Amino acid sequence: MSVVPRAHSEPLLRNDETMRYRPLGRTGLSVSALSFGCMRLGEDQERNTALISRAVDLGINYFETTRRYCRGQCQQRTAPGLAGRTAGVIVSGKEGIDANQTAYLFRREIERQLDILGLSHFKFFQVGWFSWAKMPHLLKRGGVLDALRQARDEGLVQHIGFTGHDTPEHFVACIETGLFDSITVPYNLINRSYEPTIARAGELGVGVVAMCPVAGGVLACESSRLREALHMDLPTTEMALRFVLANPHVSTACSGMNAPEQLEQNARTVKEFDPEREADFGALCEGLDRLRAELGDRFCTGCRYCMPCPQGVDIPRYMGLYRNWRAFGLEESVRRQLAAVPAEKRRERCNACGACREACPNDLDVPTILKAFDALEGGDGNGAAEAIG
Ligand code: SF4
Ligand code: SF4
Repeated sequence: MSVVPRAHSEPLLRNDETMRYRPLGRTGLSVSALSFGCMRLGEDQERNTALISRAVDLGINYFETTRRYCRGQCQQRTAPGLAGRTAGVIVSGKEGIDANQTAYLFRREIERQLDILGLSHFKFFQVGWFSWAKMPHLLKRGGVLDALRQARDEGLVQHIGFTGHDTPEHFVACIETGLFDSITVPYNLINRSYEPTIARAGELGVGVVAMCPVAGGVLACESSRLREALHMDLPTTEMALRFVLANPHVSTACSGMNAPEQLEQNARTVKEFDPEREADFGALCEGLDRLRAELGDRFCTGCRYCMPCPQGVDIPRYMGLYRNWRAFGLEESVRRQLAAVPAEKRRERCNACGACREACPNDLDVPTILKAFDALEGGDGNGAAEAIG
């Protein structure tokens, strides 16, 4: 493609009737508080186009895409719904890096994604699936940062962000390099591990895109425990969005939407909720901390020291489900997720060898906890559940 440097000063679209807006870090951009993760768009293109177009009508002006989502079709599925209005929205592109990535290859990828989306430039491009260990691949001479800087000089990319699942401490180190304008991390009621990273990003003026605000659908079920802890008498998905946006350092909650009713409900929730007037973020965190504290030292930190299990049991997955059930009261969702565990990773394979118990720094009695799920999946697990709280 030909390269034409441009100033790109178009204002971002907004619709104050139906959406709220927040600063995206120090970029000067005003981003919709609800953004659109395009990773769950389906095969019905008419529906995708109508959904994306309606999102723009509602004032959503941030769309997260990459060539890798939707079996390689994410950007093809996103583009038609944005036709004619791309100048007023942020369409974020993304590509991963590894030791073999070069400035040339990365540049070609940026151009390829621009072509698919029909864009003249990216207002944001993300280094995807990033981690501190990959910093050398970014910084090496002839590497990804060289490609991004050149693309920025030529007007093909305005701002650079990163996404990933490294430790919160490593991500603090990444943003402290000053190389990035935004960070995209999972953040929701039941997964607050990046809260310190988000706070540091806020201090440094780095925009925060909170992905999985409803935990990929896990929070789409009733929980009286969450309602009591948060003092909100609302469906769980609404409480979830409100919690994420109550965090003053979050720029936008990026929800992977694929249904019109979900889009309308999320937009309504965001519009109706005024965090400055209605939310005390500290009090919400205290309520959630109290729920977690009820698990005491039986709380799994997800460190994975217990893995691999010789029998193949996916221990951290079950421990996460146990937390969602016992601490957050998400029984219905946990039951669904238990049924979805593949046979080769299921708890029934456990022979109580005890290796995980020995490896666990939190002294979790994993075999007993695995047995406790009998109470949700049938069997006689009530006794076990009571025995471990
Ligand atoms: S006790 Fe069960 S879950 Fe733990 S390591 Fe042994 S087989 Fe795996
Ligand atoms: S070692 Fe313990 S705390 Fe770490 S993931 Fe396994 S069960 Fe959880």
